[in-house]
Amino acid sequence: MGTMSRLRPVTAEAPVESRAAAVEQLLDDKGMEATAFVDDFAAHADAHWVSRNGAGVVARAWVDPAYRARLLANGRDAVMELGLTMPPHHRQLVVLENTPSLHNVIVCTLCSCTAFTIIGLAPDWYKDLEYRARVVRQSRTVLREMGLDLPPGIDIKVWDTTADTRYMVLPVRPEGTEGLSEAELAALVTQDALIGVARL
Ligand code: FE
Repeated sequence: MGTMSRLRPVTAEAPVESRAAAVEQLLDDKGMEATAFVDDFAAHADAHWVSRNGAGVVARAWVDPAYRARLLANGRDAVMELGLTMPPHHRQLVVLENTPSLHNVIVCTLCSCTAFTIIGLAPDWYKDLEYRARVVRQSRTVLREMGLDLPPGIDIKVWDTTADTRYMVLPVRPEGTEGLSEAELAALVTQDALIGVARL
C-alpha cells in the first residue's frame, strides 16, 4: 500500500485520536518509528506513573515523623529517598499538609500539570476547563459536587501548579488506623486524596 493511500484526510472536525494517528502514520512512513515509541512510552507511564507511588510516600510520612519533616521541607529530595524519581523540569515538589481545620486542593489552571511520577497521571476531570476554572473561585462548591462536603470550620487552600513547581497533598491519617502496617496504610491512600478532592 502506498504512502498516500494510507493517510486518511483530516478535517478541522477530526477527533484528536484521528489527528494523532495521522501524525504517527506520517512519522512511521518516514522511518521514525513513532508508533513503537508511543507504545513504549504509554507502557512506561501506565507502569510507573501511578498514584501508589504517592500513597507510599504518605504512608511513610504517617509512620515516620522525621521523614514527614523532611518531606515537608523538601518534597523532591524526600521522594527520592524512597527510590522515586521526578523529571528535571519538576524542580520542586511542595507537599501540602492537611489538618483537621485545613484542606488543600491542587489544580493546574493553565493546563494539566501534576507531579505525575508521584501522584500518577492526571485524571480526565483534572484537565477539564470547568474544574480548572471553578475550583479556584468556588472551591467549596466544586468539592461538594465531587462528593467532599467540608464543614464550614475547615478552611480550603487552592494551589495552582506551574511548570516547575508541583504539589502533593498529605492527607490526615484516618482515625482507627493505629494498628495498620505501612503497606496497609498506603493501600488506604487514593489519587483523589493526593490531589485534594477527597479526605480519607
Ligand atoms: Fe499544566
